[in-house]
Amino acid sequence: MSNMSTYKEADLLSKEADNLIESLGLPASWSTLGPKEKRSLPQQDMPTQDPIQRGGNMDEVALGYTENQAIIEASRCLVCKNAPCVKGCPVSIDIPGFVCATAKGNFKEALEIIQESSMLPAICGRVCPQEKQCMELCTVGKMNRDPMESVAIGRLERYLADRGADQKSNVEILPSTGKKVAIVGSGPSGLTTAADLVRLGHGVTVFEAFHKAGGVTVYGIPEFRLPKSIVQREVGKLESMGVKFVYDYLIGRTRTVRELMEKDGFNAVYVANGAGLPKFMNIDGENLVGVFSANEYLTRSNLMKAFEKKAMTPIYPSKKVAVFGGGNVAMDAARTALRLGAKEVHIVYRRTGKEMPARVEEVHHAQEEGIIFDLLTNPVRILGDDKGRVKGIECLKYKLGEPDASGRARPEPIEGSEFLMEIDTCITALGNGSNPLVTGTTPELNTNKWGNITVDEKTGATSMEGVFAGGDIVQGAATVILAMGDGRVAAQGIDEYLKAL
Ligand code: FAD
Ligand code: SF4
Repeated sequence: MSNMSTYKEADLLSKEADNLIESLGLPASWSTLGPKEKRSLPQQDMPTQDPIQRGGNMDEVALGYTENQAIIEASRCLVCKNAPCVKGCPVSIDIPGFVCATAKGNFKEALEIIQESSMLPAICGRVCPQEKQCMELCTVGKMNRDPMESVAIGRLERYLADRGADQKSNVEILPSTGKKVAIVGSGPSGLTTAADLVRLGHGVTVFEAFHKAGGVTVYGIPEFRLPKSIVQREVGKLESMGVKFVYDYLIGRTRTVRELMEKDGFNAVYVANGAGLPKFMNIDGENLVGVFSANEYLTRSNLMKAFEKKAMTPIYPSKKVAVFGGGNVAMDAARTALRLGAKEVHIVYRRTGKEMPARVEEVHHAQEEGIIFDLLTNPVRILGDDKGRVKGIECLKYKLGEPDASGRARPEPIEGSEFLMEIDTCITALGNGSNPLVTGTTPELNTNKWGNITVDEKTGATSMEGVFAGGDIVQGAATVILAMGDGRVAAQGIDEYLKAL
């Protein structure tokens, strides 16, 4: 399904890079490299944990570039005058700027360039779908006719962020304006707005329903893809800049949006409560014991540490697991189930690998770890035993028809192709809708037919005076970087609004 290279040990990749650096005299010789020489440099593979070993632990799979790998990878950049890659970045990072600095070995400067546009590079470098954004437009990828062969922009971003983790940010914080802003939700969108507003001198308080900050980056995306210590480090930086966090505080219950303004004196509110309402298939058997939404399954594992032996909330013991869906959430749930002890894990998806919305890298890692892909297959009912527990699923085989409204080939069931699979756990990973708690208690907020808050795209302003919104609650379930992009727009909109008060 994926055309990524086969696994090579980290030591070997590191040695190959060291030899190449020595033979080419990089980084000193960088300015003398012509386009042809740059194009002949091999794209640097990301070193990873051994696929068999990592199936048994929660540690991060990707280990990160070495310094020499980063220099070689950055040296592949052609420093295009029109920088098409920047147009693919939702927060417009100066990509040639930071990649060039890396190629020259100026790592501190490179990170500072990224930080001008993004405050969460260690997170974005790991989870952004770069192959569909900056890398899709990169000239090197275009020449190689494959965005996966572009300059590995995200891997470089991650390298710089990890290397400069303790680098003191030289961001200036303006004197206090005396204005107060409440932020609902501490996901990437809320954190980005908080950072921008606190820099401008506004008082910022983030209200979070859970006991930890980070949103989906903490309770959804697993430790083996994004270590939680990285998110906590970013939250810590915000605290040191003066942002206040209030945990276990549910807006819509503990306080409404209106009360935040009228009782607590906040001058503006940014609603960034995400899209946390899981979708189900509405097939027979979905109420059986052993059926989970991916949200619940991943939250139990990530936030409540169900994978630890002494966990207060142990997870359901599974041997044969079926995950329904083909996105990042499905890959995360399947790979988590494997690490929690399942002997056999299936991804059941009704289209082919080509249409899968998951990142190529995640599909590749799942394949390496032994996840079984049942493509062109869809469950029609879940079967239970006499104790009401899952014992299997009945599936239908599918074929691809004409493209549907989404532009993807429409999957069509093949009559009479029913078959049974013995399964003890089902996890639905079919996407998320908006949680109605905030909108339901704030009738002044206009929403669309999916329950997402509608906003002015240029400012993030909602239909309610002083209230702004962004991230998944506006976009529908989207991506970290889009949520961050919204956060930046709204921070500007809020600042303008506060100045005019
Ligand atoms: P969220 O991250 O959802 O944060 C919202 C926060 O608001 C949460 O902390 C929530 O607890 C809090 N909240 C909710 N209601 C209330 C309330 N009433 N009061 C107070 N607080 C409240 N994107 C990528 O770019 N790359 C990936 O690889 C990727 N993988 C993903 C894997 C999984 C399993 C999931 C679920 C999503 C993934 N995404 C990925 C999507 C990405 O994580 C989201 O688009 C992004 O986190 C949205 O950010 P946000 O700030 O809008 O919302
Ligand atoms: Fe470098 Fe690719 Fe951007 Fe050109 S498009 S500047 S090669 S990263």
